[in-house]
Amino acid sequence: MSNLTDLTITQAITGLDNKDFTAVELAQSHIDAMAENKSLNAYITETPDIALRQAEASDKRRASGDAGALDGIPLAIKDLFCTNGVQTTAASRILDGFTPQYESTVTQKLFDAGSVMLGKTNLDEFAMGSSNTTSYYGNVINPWKRDSDNRDLTPGGSSGGSAAAVAARICMGATGTDTGGSIRQPAAFCGITGMKPTYGRCSRWGTIAFASSLDQAGTFARTVEDNALLLRTMSGHDPKDSTSANKDVPDFLAALDDNIKGKTIGIPKEYNIDGTPKEISELWQRGREWLENAGAKTIEVSLPHTQYALATYYVIAPAEASSNLARYDGVRYGHRAPEDDLTDMYEITRAEGFGEEVKRRIMIGTYSLSSGYYDAYYIKAQKVRRLISEDFMKAFEQCDAILTPTAPSAAFAIGDNEDDPIKMYLNDVFTVPASLAGLPGISVPAGLDANGLPLGLQIIGRPWDEENVLKIAGVIEKIANFTAIPKSVIKEAA
Ligand code: GLN
Repeated sequence: MSNLTDLTITQAITGLDNKDFTAVELAQSHIDAMAENKSLNAYITETPDIALRQAEASDKRRASGDAGALDGIPLAIKDLFCTNGVQTTAASRILDGFTPQYESTVTQKLFDAGSVMLGKTNLDEFAMGSSNTTSYYGNVINPWKRDSDNRDLTPGGSSGGSAAAVAARICMGATGTDTGGSIRQPAAFCGITGMKPTYGRCSRWGTIAFASSLDQAGTFARTVEDNALLLRTMSGHDPKDSTSANKDVPDFLAALDDNIKGKTIGIPKEYNIDGTPKEISELWQRGREWLENAGAKTIEVSLPHTQYALATYYVIAPAEASSNLARYDGVRYGHRAPEDDLTDMYEITRAEGFGEEVKRRIMIGTYSLSSGYYDAYYIKAQKVRRLISEDFMKAFEQCDAILTPTAPSAAFAIGDNEDDPIKMYLNDVFTVPASLAGLPGISVPAGLDANGLPLGLQIIGRPWDEENVLKIAGVIEKIANFTAIPKSVIKEAA
């Protein structure tokens, strides 16, 4: 029954409704596929028993006419969302063995809608990274390979496990979090669709914090429609998170009417970044033509502070991280070094518990928040952040949404960019500005590069305008007609 794993979420719901298969069969086929794809290391914790139990309950609900919006749909959960009774690690040694006694709001909403949890997916440690190579639990391997060589490629990061799992058909959809691009960039690297909603659309309650003013939950799936469906379920006000917005959640699915006539799409001239491969610039141009052919108007817009976005992000995100991660002291959570002296215990626990990238960020963040440097770095970065936000607001006076490439390259090989953190940070050049401004963004697979690797286009929208973002993404999806899947997945199906 391996072909069940090829269905989209929407198709699977129809199949379940028509009694073509049961939720237990759907879960089992994914559990089998997970066993065949262990080498991808996409999951930190697999929960087949929970999945089968939930699927059984789902079948009963459907039989009695009580099925929820995602009833019986097998999902993967990024291991940054706390799950009651199931180990939650943030891919860090410091949380190894931590089992929350509560459920994050986002996962609770997904389970309330009847979905089934296959497991907790791998990520960069504390969501810091662009390659899923900083996890304590090992690298995630992208199911895609170049035509020209057999090297293992990164799935992108930080939500690399979720993106790889959706691409490899070892789940139907997945949750992610995006602080500076961690949903959109891995979606592009893995040839799937990933959506980060407006900051405040999904509750952050029960999601392990990296940079609280930027962190936002979002979705991965193989179609825009499936993303809309997942996001509709995950969104909504939560009194337990003061930054979650008290706004009605529109019916994101209803927005997918393919009608973009009369819309104006902005093309930011500052996103023509030196060194961007020609294929990516050409794809961007093609995307522009697709939208024009579908009835939209495209205009050049200016986001003049784009050049400062990465520097701004890499001051603000580490500053917030250094503060958020102060709580991991060996007393309350996870790993503890067995030292008699209390100060030694704190210090050695943190030295052993955190990886290199996390330590680098704690140090940068502590430095920029310390007295004497606070104004020069942190306050300055906050001011530039405001200017970046204002650039977008000005652009949105002229256009309804913005089209850009998602990432400056296709998936790179594991080990590449490791010697130089700045090179790694450049991966976020197209995604970070929207994060700083709290805007919704989506990446849709739009083509292949000369090596047969997927490339994504990004749509950025006005605050709270996920509907237009999804609608425009839906049009790109139809016209791009991206049907390629990784060769390893085709082999599995044969
Ligand atoms: N790559 C970026 C970083 O390392 C973004 C990560 C994220 O969005 N969680 O911070």
